[in-house]
Amino acid sequence: MADLVVSNVAKSYPTRDEPLVVLRDISVELSIGENVAILGPSGSGKSTLLHIIGTLDTPTSGEVTLRDQDPFQLNEPQLAKFRNENIGFIFQDHHLLPQLSVLENVLIPTIASGASSDATARAKDLIDRVGLSPRMDHRPAELSGGERQRVAVARALVQNPMALLADEPSGSLDRTHANAIARLLLDLQQQEKTLLIVVTHNIDLANLMSRRLELDDGRLSEAT
Ligand code: ADP
Ligand code: MG
Repeated sequence: MADLVVSNVAKSYPTRDEPLVVLRDISVELSIGENVAILGPSGSGKSTLLHIIGTLDTPTSGEVTLRDQDPFQLNEPQLAKFRNENIGFIFQDHHLLPQLSVLENVLIPTIASGASSDATARAKDLIDRVGLSPRMDHRPAELSGGERQRVAVARALVQNPMALLADEPSGSLDRTHANAIARLLLDLQQQEKTLLIVVTHNIDLANLMSRRLELDDGRLSEAT
């Protein structure tokens, strides 16, 4: 069985009139080692789908299985632990904590399990691999947009997640830096042997990935 199985997932939001149907019927199987782009216009439900895959949001119907486990059967603390150990998120805006240093930000996901010396060594190694060793003690405000996104990439990987989920990771960067982040994500996906899913409306970025899926009218298909 694939590491991530999405079966007939639908998602709608209640409104005053008819429910707003965002995802109609999504089925896809993805495995560790794959790198995939999800394309689609603004409002097509890309973030909604990524949040459901990452267990941040629940489907209205259908199933998600991650490594043979249905995460939505877990209770809230179990789900938080599961998510923390299996999923690394990168958002359009870095979501770093301004009062913490680069190293402290990268260590955040390890706090729940008691930040160990192993975790610190892992964090330092990742910071080195995203090219920010000299900036280890700096705060986010002292970094450029591209550098902050690099920190977010290191933080997303610190727990050795099975899946790295990036939602418009270069959306707030210029073209050169957008490309650099995409290449960094791909390099690390291959070194770390994770599943990488990148949501983007940037076709150049999508073309770097080995598989492209397109979200249209609530359905997902292989992009041409
Ligand atoms: P994308 O990421 O492709 O731009 P989204 O997944 O963010 O699309 O949103 C898809 C649609 O769902 C949009 O019409 C948006 O307004 C709507 N939507 C997203 N989240 C909610 C919510 N919590 N409540 C109601 N509608 C929502
Ligand atoms: Mg979005």
